[in-house]
Amino acid sequence: LETNEILGSGIVEKIGMKGSCLKHMRADGQKILLEGEVLEHQTAIEYILGVLTSKRHGALKSLEEIDAVGHRVVHGGEKFNKSVLITDEVIRKIEECIDIAPLHNPPNLSGIHAIEELLPSVPQVAVFDTAFHQTMPKVSYIYPLPYNLYNKYKIRRYGFHGTSHRYVAEQAAVKLGKPLSRCNLITCHLGNGCSVTAIQNGISIDTSMGFTPLEGLMMGTRSGDIDPYIVLYLMEKEDLAIDEVNSLLNKQSGLLGVSGISNDIRLIWDEANKGNDQAKLASEIFIYRLKKYIGSYLAVLGRVDAIVFTAGIGENDEIIREKSLADMENFGIIVDKNKNTELNRQEGEISTPESKVKVYIIPTNEELAIARDTKTIVENHRT
Ligand code: ADP
Repeated sequence: LETNEILGSGIVEKIGMKGSCLKHMRADGQKILLEGEVLEHQTAIEYILGVLTSKRHGALKSLEEIDAVGHRVVHGGEKFNKSVLITDEVIRKIEECIDIAPLHNPPNLSGIHAIEELLPSVPQVAVFDTAFHQTMPKVSYIYPLPYNLYNKYKIRRYGFHGTSHRYVAEQAAVKLGKPLSRCNLITCHLGNGCSVTAIQNGISIDTSMGFTPLEGLMMGTRSGDIDPYIVLYLMEKEDLAIDEVNSLLNKQSGLLGVSGISNDIRLIWDEANKGNDQAKLASEIFIYRLKKYIGSYLAVLGRVDAIVFTAGIGENDEIIREKSLADMENFGIIVDKNKNTELNRQEGEISTPESKVKVYIIPTNEELAIARDTKTIVENHRT
């Protein structure tokens, strides 16, 4: 890892569903696609290890070349504020978080168990999506609900995308030329899931996702913030069951819900440009809500060194970047339209020299962040 070089990358999609497949790409650009039923995570990992070491397509000579395995684990609850070496106790704690992350932690654990079985002597590290946000103060993580619900069920705001927010914050500090511990930043991770984080002196003090990744910004298919009473009203009016409301808020809302077209911003722009009013409205709501979050974090932080855009939309959509920061000269934010266009899809500064707050595009790299943590933790453990 000394060189951060990528030897191969890939994904197994739709595990347990029709059309599951493995995609793998080697550093030399050679790509393969294996289609076939992958019913569970253990099998998926067996396939991955097989392809990684295959004579024709592989990136490794043998499994012995693997010194450690890093896992992205979605929910660490209040139990983890940083990445850790996986032990039986860590596994037990991740299991205890299943209650608050029923869709994510079980497959994460399957992956860990599969590696345990297939590579028993290889150390594993868990990198949590929630860990970076464990520095949030109570004033931002406690909901204005009866306080005993926090004690009883651990209902509070956790925040997600932490690995990405932390990674781009570290990169931004390098660009600003000062230690992260002295940087105040607003980081906008805009992918299928979207979240904004307020970072003060290098630590997360607030973020837009909450108890689950449903809170906050409008997203591809998730509503983000809505009046919670709408849930009760709809359940009554439409006689909806819990899983129907869940699907409505998580899968049928957001850009898709308002536009009626797609969760993909590119298709929304295509239709908006053809005069589709709902598509136009969907993009406008997305931008308006993003702007409001950025504004609220400017207020919370007071002094901001830089605003960072990352992930699918943040890195590739110049219009979203430009419009969400439009007319904010009074807050010291001026985007250079030409640079914003020229640097689209690249890393760089898109603010004018006069802009007090720098604006950066920084491609996220969660895999690299996970690999770095894994290396550090495994090496520290050895010594
Ligand atoms: P995930 O959150 O699933 O990792 P990504 O970070 O890949 O998602 O972001 C996916 C979203 O990014 C897509 O829905 C699309 O709207 C947007 N996106 C991806 N590529 C482009 C592009 N070239 N131009 C504009 N938007 C893009």
